[in-house]
Amino acid sequence: MNPMAPFRWFLFIAALCCLFAALHASDGDADPLYKDCVERCQETGCVGNRCFQHCKFSSDGKPIDGPWYMHEPLYLRWKQWDCRSDCRHHCMLAREEERTKLGDKPVKYHGKWPFQRVYGIQEPVAVALSALNLAMQFHGWVSFFIVVYYKLRLRPNKKTYYEYTGLWHIYGILAMNSWFWSAVFHSRDVELTEKLDYSSAVALLGFTLILAILRACNVKEEAARVMVAAPLVAFVTTHILYLNFYRLDYGLNKKVCAAMAVSQLLIWAMWAGVSRHPARWKLWVVVVGGGLAMVLDIYDFPPYKGYVDAHALWHATAIPLTYLWWSFIRDDAEFRTTSLLKKVK
Ligand SMILES: [Zn+2]
Repeated sequence: MNPMAPFRWFLFIAALCCLFAALHASDGDADPLYKDCVERCQETGCVGNRCFQHCKFSSDGKPIDGPWYMHEPLYLRWKQWDCRSDCRHHCMLAREEERTKLGDKPVKYHGKWPFQRVYGIQEPVAVALSALNLAMQFHGWVSFFIVVYYKLRLRPNKKTYYEYTGLWHIYGILAMNSWFWSAVFHSRDVELTEKLDYSSAVALLGFTLILAILRACNVKEEAARVMVAAPLVAFVTTHILYLNFYRLDYGLNKKVCAAMAVSQLLIWAMWAGVSRHPARWKLWVVVVGGGLAMVLDIYDFPPYKGYVDAHALWHATAIPLTYLWWSFIRDDAEFRTTSLLKKVK
């Protein structure tokens, strides 16, 4: 075999990846003027007459000034990331300014609308709302904990009568994890934070789908639960691995997430329709609210004054829905526990 063959293959695959990446770029970052600007900025460290300290590299990639720790490769990588992020941001602002002068509408860059930064935070409104959502999830989870372990009666072996306690604990942890990474991602969008945010959201959606099936179909046996969960866990894991290690395909991910979200909304809606659950009105409100919120996320509009876009509004709608959702979970725990205790008597 030709010793250069593996190298050629590598080049071929790299070229294919670039092609795919180009095909999946947003309108804004596909613009040659924007691309030129970013490239030039990463070399010179300046956009127009604004220059960034993150971009000070000498020709061999080492920073020109600074103490010894700046020579560490890891630090250099952060610096390069910061340089790229600064360049992208200021090139985007420069391009958008030119575009508004020409009367053009805003376009997306790297899957996101052009936002105004506040203290280096890229999407301050989305960050604040993510933090509020995280707080809401924590509040809901703690109150659920108090209800099942302190207000309701426990079995003689100190376990709860409610059969879904463990599943809701996992849900609470996944939800808080997802809002945490959402806050991080909206404040600083680099490859790592983006992947963590997307992966956490997919994991949460996948788990809530499993939970919807298990709860709505009253699946209580361990073996049956595993049978329902296994194929979904496999699918969600594959999808997360695909996004992280093959290609972060925004279009595909949107479809997968929408499919998982719609199916669980349908499951809850059907269950709310047929069951005589005392708290089913809460379920209805969450299903209808969740559906409307999804429309908001699909009907994507550019940020108002550079701050509030459809995605930020979607974060806002999640706050009251989360409150109601945990309230439904508490009601469900009470409902199941009382009906089980009635049977015991
Ligand atoms: Zn978000």
